[in-house]
Amino acid sequence: MSNKVRVRFAPSPTGPLHIGGVRTALYNYLFAKKNGGDFLLRIEDTDQTRYVEGAEQYIVDALNWLQIPYDEGPNSSVEIQQKYGPFRQSERKDLYKQYADQLIESGWAYYAFDTPEELDAHRKDHEEKGKTFIYNWHNRLKLNNSLKLSAEEVQEKINSGEAYVIRFKSPQDEKLQLNDIIRGDIEIDTNILDDKVLFKSDGMPTYHLANIVDDHLMDITHVIRGEEWLPSMALHVLLYRAFDWQAPEFAHLPLILKPTGKGKLSKRDGDKLGFPVFPLEWKDPATGDVSRGYKEDGYFNDAVINFLAFLGWNPGTEQEIFSLEELVNAFELDRVHKSGARFDPDKTKWYNHKYLQQKEDTDLATRFLPFLKENGIETAIDYVENVVTLIKERANFVADFWDLGSFFFVAPTEYDAKASKKQWKENTNEYMNEVAQVINSIDTFESTTIEAVVKDWIASKELGFGQVMPPLRLALVGEMKGPHVFDIIALIGKEETVNRLQKATQVLG
Ligand code: GLU
Repeated sequence: MSNKVRVRFAPSPTGPLHIGGVRTALYNYLFAKKNGGDFLLRIEDTDQTRYVEGAEQYIVDALNWLQIPYDEGPNSSVEIQQKYGPFRQSERKDLYKQYADQLIESGWAYYAFDTPEELDAHRKDHEEKGKTFIYNWHNRLKLNNSLKLSAEEVQEKINSGEAYVIRFKSPQDEKLQLNDIIRGDIEIDTNILDDKVLFKSDGMPTYHLANIVDDHLMDITHVIRGEEWLPSMALHVLLYRAFDWQAPEFAHLPLILKPTGKGKLSKRDGDKLGFPVFPLEWKDPATGDVSRGYKEDGYFNDAVINFLAFLGWNPGTEQEIFSLEELVNAFELDRVHKSGARFDPDKTKWYNHKYLQQKEDTDLATRFLPFLKENGIETAIDYVENVVTLIKERANFVADFWDLGSFFFVAPTEYDAKASKKQWKENTNEYMNEVAQVINSIDTFESTTIEAVVKDWIASKELGFGQVMPPLRLALVGEMKGPHVFDIIALIGKEETVNRLQKATQVLG
């Protein structure tokens, strides 16, 4: 095995990639880059019954959107493919049988001819007695397999085409010492392990065999994956021993938990509480159902990376905003938490808000254009950029811009009833007409100048700010929201300001 760190993300293309899967990919990537290593994408598609059309492309698209590049994977160059590929297990299927055979020869595995019906009958029988049927050391010699049958009988069955699987022969009476980078030492009594199927009657390896063979052949040094695979670790370590291969190190990542209550985060939680659990939108090819994605919901890819990194890890400092590069530098597997990471949808919005503030206004303005177009507005990008500068502070998403600043593009057609009642008093029409004239006379039409002139006028009239500023805002915006009034006036311009003031006096006066 080379000394270079090599890790892999090994999803099964059975549907859209859950954000838990994305986090696994991210931690693998961060660990690889931190250690100057390689990050591989391997598609584990040996279970043809669970294969879902489009799922592999979805995984690739999601990693691309998030900008988690893999060094080796299904689309890698010929040289890489020749050394370590193919990276789709379905394209490697001819490779696995020899390894299963090797284990039979060395006595680590055996043929089992038990039919599905027979196994079901055993299971049922056990259930009726309140027990669980486990195929292992305590009953394997009573079952229909090559450990019990003679060599001739076995050969005969195979020759006659009888269906068989190959099972792993788990050792008996051993306390297996395992080590996980995140969880530390774990002791497993091998007597509780079942003799897992390694090779199926359809000629395909199971996940366990293919996974170990591929990790070995691809020189994987660290297996970083979800906690749901922790129960398989004993078998995997035993398989390495059986092959006489050096096992990689293991790190099992904590679950991502529901926002409240027990259990892991599911699509249902997202549907119920209104947030996505997938990076990209996914249309189920069978049902046509559409699941929302972070991208389509308006999240920035770097914000998603940042909040995912913090689901189960933190750098041990107060800093919460990290670029991908900073994450690479700060990431340590032994700082990954053992306990589940609670998912907090408000925190994801907070992250997006923070990232939005950091983006260039030109970039934000460009992203805002389609929303404007949807509302029938086409206007100069410079103007849009100026609007964005004024309103972005309150936005979590680009989509919020319209709500926060539509009045920069269209004059109010109605006025908030409660505010109108409160702000539009007997003399307001008079003040607004006068303020319109004052504004009309300003030559240097800049926010600070306008502010100075209007404030001078308020003082000269011996009026209170409360008599002028709130109705002024109401006339310009239609409600009592928005940025600094003089910034609004400067941006929408003299003529528009005067028009809006006139209109308000007609409607509200
Ligand atoms: N194919 C497995 C999955 O879908 C990979 C588990 C592993 O990383 O070993 O999660």
